[in-house]
Amino acid sequence: MNKDIATPIRTKEILNKYGFSFKKSLGQNFIIDPNILRNIVHYASLTEESGAIEIGPGIGALTEHLARNCKKVVAFEIDGRLIPVLEDTLSPYPNVKVIHSDVLKADVAKVIEEEMQGIKDIMVVANLPYYVTTPILMKLLHDRLPIRGFVVMMQKEVADRISAKPGTKNYGSLSIAVQYYTDAEVVMTVPKTVFMPQPNVDSAVIRLIKREAPPIEVVDEDFLFVVSRAAFAQRRKTILNNLQAGLPSGKEKKQQIMDALSACGIDPSRRGETLTIEEFGKLSNELYPHFH
Ligand code: SAM
Repeated sequence: MNKDIATPIRTKEILNKYGFSFKKSLGQNFIIDPNILRNIVHYASLTEESGAIEIGPGIGALTEHLARNCKKVVAFEIDGRLIPVLEDTLSPYPNVKVIHSDVLKADVAKVIEEEMQGIKDIMVVANLPYYVTTPILMKLLHDRLPIRGFVVMMQKEVADRISAKPGTKNYGSLSIAVQYYTDAEVVMTVPKTVFMPQPNVDSAVIRLIKREAPPIEVVDEDFLFVVSRAAFAQRRKTILNNLQAGLPSGKEKKQQIMDALSACGIDPSRRGETLTIEEFGKLSNELYPHFH
């Protein structure tokens, strides 16, 4: 087996060879501990028949662990300076395809269709750039990709918010937006010391497994997220006050909002953080005709 990229010595060698300087603006914190990478790959439960989509391969530290454990890896890297580096470091792995692209602008579904023909089990596995974690996740969820799920590292605070349950302080519109599509679980917390350079924040790995069906069918998913964002705008306010303040013409539609809450059996004096995703779904369906 080849020597791991993710040791401090090899990483420094590679960075020196290419005169690479980190760009903070691209969230470049590379992993320098192979054990963390082994654990990430373990949580993805890949087989020899699986495919992996990676966002931001950096110098290929995680990419090579994926390449050793599945059939095909497709990695999207935004930083053109890393493309020749990856060609070099990943040359022992013919099952890796690196795409020089901003993943937010990429047609990931098309890439999967072209590059992962015949592969039935696909996971997104990545150490995400922290400045765009949420946009990347939301894009990939909205794209309805033919994947089993995600095992991704991110800022711990964001992982806690994504996986939070109703009634907890971290529960909010992000929990609903992600848990509407997936079962979310933090599987590992990761110390700053395993990165080069070290980030200012703690990290965590979250596993998101796509639901077979959403917990509740909603008329319009975007409207569900409009309602949940409004409900959490001011956490100390009641659901009624937040919806009046946050929905378009909400003030004039107080009666319709009260009726919708009543139809769902939701006390208007409750706070948004106590509502389950199912309740948010029902509520958005009841409110929908009054706001469209
Ligand atoms: N996977 C490597 C590792 O674990 O050591 C690097 C992870 S580093 C946290 C994030 C990587 O994402 C960087 O290589 C960065 O250049 C890349 N990146 C940042 N924004 C991106 C975007 N919008 N699309 C694709 N890659 C991006």
